[in-house]
Amino acid sequence: MKNLRTNILICGGGIVGLTIAMELVNSGYRDITIIEKEETVGQHASGRNSGVLHAGIYYSPDSLKAKFCLQGNLLMKQYCREKGIRVFESGKVIVAQNAEEAATLKELYDRAVKNGARVDLIDENRLREIEPNTKSHGMALYSHDTAVVDPMEILHSLIDTITASKGVTISWSTSFAGLAGSNVARTSKGTIAFEKFINTAGAYCDKVAHAFGVGHEYKLIPFKGIYRKLRKEKAEMVRGNIYPVPNIRNPFLGIHFTKKVNGDVYIGPTAIPALGRENYGIVSGMDFEAFDILAREAALFFTNRKFRDVALAEPRKYVFKYFFDDAKRLVNQLEPSDVVSSNKVGIRPQLVDWKRKELVMDFLVIEDGASIHVLNAISPAFTSSMHFAKYIVQKYVSKQHQFE
Ligand SMILES: Cc1cc2nc3c(=O)[nH]c(=O)nc-3n(C[C@H](O)[C@H](O)[C@H](O)COP(=O)(O)OP(=O)(O)OC[C@H]3O[C@@H](n4cnc5c(N)ncnc54)[C@H](O)[C@@H]3O)c2cc1C
Repeated sequence: MKNLRTNILICGGGIVGLTIAMELVNSGYRDITIIEKEETVGQHASGRNSGVLHAGIYYSPDSLKAKFCLQGNLLMKQYCREKGIRVFESGKVIVAQNAEEAATLKELYDRAVKNGARVDLIDENRLREIEPNTKSHGMALYSHDTAVVDPMEILHSLIDTITASKGVTISWSTSFAGLAGSNVARTSKGTIAFEKFINTAGAYCDKVAHAFGVGHEYKLIPFKGIYRKLRKEKAEMVRGNIYPVPNIRNPFLGIHFTKKVNGDVYIGPTAIPALGRENYGIVSGMDFEAFDILAREAALFFTNRKFRDVALAEPRKYVFKYFFDDAKRLVNQLEPSDVVSSNKVGIRPQLVDWKRKELVMDFLVIEDGASIHVLNAISPAFTSSMHFAKYIVQKYVSKQHQFE
């Protein structure tokens, strides 16, 4: 590949880039190129998440997350039905440990209702019918529309769908490396001239944006999510999804139990401040940027109490005992021997508004001339992606402004 020209250039072939490509094709656009730095799909967040199709519970009603999550859930389920992809209609319970959490449950219920989600506050008898091995303080929240998918099945299907359309070319092992002029991208395989550029680079979205002079007011902090599993013979202990009451002022939902489409039950993920954007192991994925990231984390530690709480509580969950204690709070029966390690680990690339030293809670889109930057596509961006893609295409590419 050398000195190509394309109509729309998408940087990053995760769920956000792929669903935008599909939406563009469905809206009549052609000559779309996706550049993806990896050889295959799903190497980062989109292939490493919990696979939960969230149902619009947690998000502040005026947020993009609230606008896109439930609709995204419904669109993705419909896509899965059309393509014969497995969806486990599990539902989900959120359980409280004490009176304070029970009060937050009520707040979550009110938010969920405002967001149009189908939820019930249920008593302990109903909770036991749904999830016999869990407990809650007084009441629990039940979400009807939460479901579970295998994210890799969806990613592969999207690739088949968009490549079959003949409107999209995917260039694997091709990294965006900067601009070679106005509307010309420099990549590891040559230059590509474009009419429109869409940045969906996940953990590198800020770096790509900076090449366009956009988003310098934000810095990125990676959070590592490690998972463990229930031993196979013990998977029957959990029927669907069991979640704790989160601190709704933080973007993390807490260690939870999720039954996958194949019946395995995963426990996690943690939210441990990491030292690299792809720091999946203890040291693997760390590079020269580790010192910078550490400095950012230190600055946030001293200025932001919510971050400090996370930074103090989460790293100890590398130790089995602390991880186990967190999980055990959610269920009646769980022995240390029921839990085994897993090689599943993901990184949440979290944007921080550096002037305010606050974690950005919502998705963020910045348009600058011919470029559109999708920033902070954190959870539930997998769930939301198909509706989020409509928003990007209608508002920023077709300029229909339907979503205002
Ligand atoms: C542990 C964990 C659990 C989660 N659980 C859920 C869940 O249950 N439900 C849910 O809805 N969401 C969940 N999420 C969030 C969800 O996975 C992400 O919001 C979503 O996958 C983000 O998609 P993306 O396309 O923006 O990013 P990615 O999947 O990271 O894709 C970005 C792509 O850009 C490529 N790229 C980066 N830089 C360049 C470059 N310079 N040139 C070319 N290509 C580049 C990368 O290789 C990558 O493939 C979870 C996330 C994590 C980490």
